[in-house]
Amino acid sequence: MPYSNEHKTVLQAIMHEGALHEARGKELVIRLFKHNNTAQILSEINTKLRPLCMTIKSINCEVTGELYWIFANTVQDKTASFNSEFSQAELALLRNVYSEIVTSNSGWVSSTFCLNLCPSINLKLSKTDAEQFLLEMVNRQWLCCKDGKYYMGVRSIAELLQYFKDTYEGNLHICTLCKQELFYGDKCNKCDAIAHVYCLQNYARNHNSLGCPNCQFSTSRQNFSSSNASAMDIDDA
Ligand SMILES: [Zn+2]
Ligand SMILES: [Zn+2]
Repeated sequence: MPYSNEHKTVLQAIMHEGALHEARGKELVIRLFKHNNTAQILSEINTKLRPLCMTIKSINCEVTGELYWIFANTVQDKTASFNSEFSQAELALLRNVYSEIVTSNSGWVSSTFCLNLCPSINLKLSKTDAEQFLLEMVNRQWLCCKDGKYYMGVRSIAELLQYFKDTYEGNLHICTLCKQELFYGDKCNKCDAIAHVYCLQNYARNHNSLGCPNCQFSTSRQNFSSSNASAMDIDDA
């Protein structure tokens, strides 16, 4: 099927949202195309986008596991560039928040810590402005916020992965299951394996096992502990 105005409508919705929730994307596809083969529609849009070095990526939120469609460059910049829509101080704060998330063992950083960053790195940004900026980053899905903790957002994963690879080479974890980069996940208590929460849930469902996919340690989820104790219940999927 050739690229049509309906394809364009889907693409515009994704670009408008920044990250379009899969459920809403599916609704849109059904309404416009009278079928629900979203994979086919995304593939047709991506064929059109390829010469422009752009693509629609499907990315799971590392915290909720929910899937989002994101418009991203296939040739990624080595810098986290936001087209000067933010001030230097805001970008400096964001880079520091990223740095904390990537280099922490937990994969998140507390909001209190973020707000205290401003005076400690000498940013000319009031706490109120910093709070407002971080809230906007969450609304636009660059960050994910849960229970006062900031995690990597789906758009950062889709659009800034090259920046993270270049900046934090040795610090990026790889998911044992999907082999993709991981910022937040569950660690095995016995071996070094770490995996996305949503990958572990799929694995548990498909293998009827709550053991570690790498070392098969135990059948109890007690042995696969979350870097954030409250976020994860493997068998609540
Ligand atoms: Zn994974
Ligand atoms: Zn293990």
